[in-house]
Amino acid sequence: MTTVETESGVLAGDERMLIDGELQLTSSGATFEVIHPASEEVAGQATDGTVDDMGRAVAAARRAFDETDWSRDLEFRHHCLTQLHEALERNKERLRRILITEVGCPVTVSGSQIESPIEEVKHWADHGKNFEYLVDTGVHPTQLGPARRKIHYEPVGVVGAITPWNVPFYLNIAETVPALMAGNTVVLKPAQLTPWSGSEYGRIVAEETDIPAGVFNVVVSNANEVGAALSADPRVDMITFTGSTATGRAILAAGAPTVKKTLLELGGKSAHIVLDDADFNACLPLAAMMACVMSGQSCILPSRILLPRSRYEEGLEILKTMMEGFPVGDPWTPGNMQGPQISKTQRQKVLGLIRSGIDSGARLVTGGGVPENLPVGYYTQPTLLADVDPDSQVAQDEIFGPVLTVTPYDTDDDAVAIANNTIYGLSGEVSSGDVDRAFAIATRMRTGNVTINGKSHFGITSPFGGTKQSGLGYRNGEEGYKEYLEAKTIGMPDTAAP
Ligand code: NAD
Repeated sequence: MTTVETESGVLAGDERMLIDGELQLTSSGATFEVIHPASEEVAGQATDGTVDDMGRAVAAARRAFDETDWSRDLEFRHHCLTQLHEALERNKERLRRILITEVGCPVTVSGSQIESPIEEVKHWADHGKNFEYLVDTGVHPTQLGPARRKIHYEPVGVVGAITPWNVPFYLNIAETVPALMAGNTVVLKPAQLTPWSGSEYGRIVAEETDIPAGVFNVVVSNANEVGAALSADPRVDMITFTGSTATGRAILAAGAPTVKKTLLELGGKSAHIVLDDADFNACLPLAAMMACVMSGQSCILPSRILLPRSRYEEGLEILKTMMEGFPVGDPWTPGNMQGPQISKTQRQKVLGLIRSGIDSGARLVTGGGVPENLPVGYYTQPTLLADVDPDSQVAQDEIFGPVLTVTPYDTDDDAVAIANNTIYGLSGEVSSGDVDRAFAIATRMRTGNVTINGKSHFGITSPFGGTKQSGLGYRNGEEGYKEYLEAKTIGMPDTAAP
């Protein structure tokens, strides 16, 4: 195992991929660098897998699905995933340091990206063990006499899982563990910026669990072609993907010739409708905090704040105060709650969108650049843009930075119309002193999920998915588990009938 520990806390993950039960480097020997975004230094190398490596991983997953008992042996799967939960728990601090090294996620807020997904492994193992795979729906009249019908829930087959960099370990787990527990075999392709969160997962599976060769594979690569090859491969039955809407469209198109089942969790541009009777001192500091934690690199972030014109300046002042006092800095220092953007390119994109907002008439209330005290590392100032035109680029494009745009509205109907004025439909938020009034607004938002008065919609037992161009299908909840199963209805004679 190749690990490099340094005094700063930076930790390089395992360089190897997992293909057909073997931890291995790509045959060409090619590698690519992993940069620590808080120091801009090279933290280490990852093996640069090829389309050929992906082909071998898919072949292994296909063979493991078609020729082993994995898909039928529920007890064994429960055993293996319980082992995986324990192994991840043992490796927790190592995984946390890899996460901070790759993403720059502050240690203070890393729990939701490490502890939560590890707990989810146990949840899925137990959920899958207790799931009712055979459901008798009773006797149905037909033209040829009564027929009893049973639904048999069966795994889909070989699942390709493609993940993004913003919450890499969490999403690697969220996309693969329910799929495995449901009896599928899996090929995981982690994002280029976060290869070790994937390769460490592969190492733990290979070295610390009984998961058989070929059942779980990880192919690390710096090339988009390798993910594209997975999504087009006819031996793959399903793609589960989290990432940008642009890539989601490419994956849908690549799967079309083989009518691949496709689960997509894509981009968002969520709105927070603050009604005129809301408690501004409760909801707006929280809104500002959510924009900065994770450096704004969150798909569900309600980044468009809609304020009633009657209380507009009051709301802006509260947001400004919170953003100007927000603890930004070294992710290894406890107490800091906003780290850097993940890469120089991402920060340039964020700064460019801020500039486009100002150019289109928005008022820069605070931030807008690089913090003066943090010249090294890809840090961005918490930024507040007011008077944002709802049709402008900064109001329409996903920013993925610590930026809130604020737009005034006159009536509740206006607020709903502005909130829905987007190609996305991932999340949303409503704040009001009257929960019924907020609920009525929430039902009018064309979006997959809504938070009212800070009470989060997100959790392992509740379905989560986007509408419009934010996705297809669900993670979490019963709906999320069933995504990895086919419902086969079997009609048969009603043996109980006289
Ligand atoms: P991305 O779409 O650029 O990349 C995601 C993954 O797709 C990477 O592993 C990448 O290598 C791979 N990929 C790239 N081109 C591909 C192709 N043609 N075929 C197959 N795979 C390909 O996204 P990103 O920049 O890594 O992540 C940020 C995006 O993810 C944001 O849009 C964010 O909103 C979204 N996201 C959504 C959710 C959600 O639950 N809806 C959660 C987290 C992130």
